[in-house]
Amino acid sequence: MADADSGRDPSAFVGRLLEVMEREIVPLTAAGVEAGNKIFGAAILARSDLSVVVAATNDETANPLWHGEINAIKQFFELRSRPAPADCVFLATHEPCSLCLSGITWSGFDNFSYLFSHTDSADRFEIPYDIDILTSVYAVPDPDRSEVMSGRDYYNRTNRYFTSVDLMPAASAHHPDVVARLIATYSRLSDTYQRRKGAGSITLA
Ligand SMILES: [Zn+2]
Repeated sequence: MADADSGRDPSAFVGRLLEVMEREIVPLTAAGVEAGNKIFGAAILARSDLSVVVAATNDETANPLWHGEINAIKQFFELRSRPAPADCVFLATHEPCSLCLSGITWSGFDNFSYLFSHTDSADRFEIPYDIDILTSVYAVPDPDRSEVMSGRDYYNRTNRYFTSVDLMPAASAHHPDVVARLIATYSRLSDTYQRRKGAGSITLA
């Protein structure tokens, strides 16, 4: 977690983020998926008390750039009164794609936390584009090697702009029942999305 969060009780911090996923993001995503959108959501919380400033979900049927994280950032900056980005905790249900990594960076958030990894998105939820775009567009091949990635990470997880936090280890250790519930919930949402996506107007479905 980001430096400013390092003094927190990790169980309570992760528990609160899981609670926000279940109570604030999932209902939005359930409606979004019914409308043909992907399963990815986000919320921005005040770092001081972990209250929700905005929660959002993917709305790609309206615009291919309205990923959950970008939608949350858009709504955040439309608020007349809001905390500074540096005073917020950024929560993404799934590890942000290249667009959202850039959006978070350009917006001044210095952290994000996610439950499901890029690999989960590709394998469990059948959305391969995060890894495919990061490797196809950004991973310049090493001229001395034939392979592109050779075990390297897809992006710099801790850098001068942000620290990324994989919630799954602490979530599984401290809140296994909630994690099991969220896995079941997102599996159902994913099944619905995969059934409905053919009827939508999503560019990379
Ligand atoms: Zn994204």
